[in-house]
Amino acid sequence: MFIEQIPQVVRWFFSPVLWRKDPERKVIYLTFDDGPTEENTRWILDQLDARGVKATFFCIGKNVREHPELYAEILKRGHRTGLHGYDHKRGLYKDEAAFADDLQKAEQYVHSDLFRPPHGHLTFSQIRRFSQRFTIVLWDVITRDYNASLKPEQIYRIAVRYGRNGSIVVFHDSVKARANMIYAFPKAVDYWLSKGYKFETL
Ligand SMILES: [Zn+2]
Repeated sequence: MFIEQIPQVVRWFFSPVLWRKDPERKVIYLTFDDGPTEENTRWILDQLDARGVKATFFCIGKNVREHPELYAEILKRGHRTGLHGYDHKRGLYKDEAAFADDLQKAEQYVHSDLFRPPHGHLTFSQIRRFSQRFTIVLWDVITRDYNASLKPEQIYRIAVRYGRNGSIVVFHDSVKARANMIYAFPKAVDYWLSKGYKFETL
């Protein structure tokens, strides 16, 4: 529970960060981190198109450098992108300058005012600094699809158990998350569609 859906008290503590959108609206905000990848991104785009659903992709700068055509495809199909670092560095106190450099490098490849810190980790001074330039986006539901010790059905259960009005939901288009993601993401979207949820980009 603590991992999949962070308690409100923690969210207040990190209040400049976006955790969840309007709880009055029956809308879910799908997000995909760590792409684009050959293995998954086009497949995800096709699944989204088949359902008429839009999503937000937090791309790693170096992956965009390697696959500019996939990045262009995400935008062409009407989705939104956000920054997720160049090299997926974690924000730590001892390394603030390197972290800022990494983000600046990522901005050459990903043009957005949305930023999701890799591993969901930022120091307080980084939150203060980067929230002046970006909307820092964390999540309402992290599906843990990257965790190979969890089974695809468990990832699906996490998604539908915690998904609710205004939820920002995290899946991954990394290779590591593939087995869990390809099972849980379309199935969860179909479930939410059957319950009358709409989907929007951030
Ligand atoms: Zn990531």
